[in-house]
Amino acid sequence: MHDIIIIGGGPSGLTAALYALRANKSVLILEKENFGGQIANSPKVENYPTIKEISGSDLTDLMVNQVMDMGAEFELEDVEKVEKNGSIFEVYTNYGKHEGKTVIIANGVRHRTLGLPKEEELIGKGVYYCAVCDGPMYKGKEVYLIGDANTALQYAVLLSGYCTKVHMFCLFDHFFGDPILQDRVREKENVEVTFNMNLVEYKGEEHLEGLVFENTQTHELKEFKTDNVFVSVGQIPDNDKFANLVELEKGFILTDEDMCTKTPGIYACGDTRKKAIKQVVTACNDGAIAAMSAVKYLN
Ligand SMILES: Cc1cc2nc3c(=O)[nH]c(=O)nc-3n(C[C@H](O)[C@H](O)[C@H](O)COP(=O)(O)OP(=O)(O)OC[C@H]3O[C@@H](n4cnc5c(N)ncnc54)[C@H](O)[C@@H]3O)c2cc1C
Repeated sequence: MHDIIIIGGGPSGLTAALYALRANKSVLILEKENFGGQIANSPKVENYPTIKEISGSDLTDLMVNQVMDMGAEFELEDVEKVEKNGSIFEVYTNYGKHEGKTVIIANGVRHRTLGLPKEEELIGKGVYYCAVCDGPMYKGKEVYLIGDANTALQYAVLLSGYCTKVHMFCLFDHFFGDPILQDRVREKENVEVTFNMNLVEYKGEEHLEGLVFENTQTHELKEFKTDNVFVSVGQIPDNDKFANLVELEKGFILTDEDMCTKTPGIYACGDTRKKAIKQVVTACNDGAIAAMSAVKYLN
């Protein structure tokens, strides 16, 4: 029996563990893939306070070591469902069952990929999903951007501020985002938008070297040489399995500002919950609050 079971070993889950352990609670962290979460894929993090520049994996290694030294238990297991049995939560994984007095869901999101061959291998090697995080590497250069909704429009505006040119490609013949954002993009002289373009191939082996698009109207193929592309086609939460205990909106978990869900004893933090800014520092913020709320409930 653990005081707190944390689902997900990314920045929010690891920070929740830190705060829970400092309150003398027993903590089990369940992680299905890699301790460290999404940021471990980023070659360069330049917006985490106190550290000018660090790789995502080095940053999360520091977080993991910190909570390991404090006595957190870790298991590499994939959580499949959580059930409430009286005042106890039963957490079922691909290996079995764990029992906890509270549960913190910190399972993050995955950026939606295009599912093309070589995409996985080129992540962080020219293929990026977060312009806030990785855009500054291309300051003063031309960048390629795929997407047509709010995040992509925001990325276009952001990148146009320090890149010489933003080549933006949209699948359909119009944008889907907020009109005000659409206008902002149209006002940018260095953003060139091409509609009706579907990315069909990544070129390059060790690093991205080019992109092949198919025009959805003419079916003509066109290749562009580039060492970068920002793919902004949405994020995928994976919370249907928790819908018995938490409220969801478009798949994201609804919490109050204390990270409480609709079920007392269950908390959610980080990218998995409905919120505007999804960054390491905001994930850590959420994790600290979720842990303190769980500690309050336990006490
Ligand atoms: C390429 C890239 C670069 C980025 N760069 C930056 C940057 O420079 N600065 C910045 O601030 N932010 C950056 N971000 C965003 C940042 O990574 C996220 O905001 C942050 O990682 C969110 O932390 P989290 O703990 O909420 O979720 P995640 O980091 O997604 O961690 C969730 C963890 O839960 C695990 N998990 C999921 N489901 C289960 C399950 N069923 N059972 C067990 N474990 C599960 C996952 O495997 C994962 O390890 C970047 C993101 C990406 C993808």
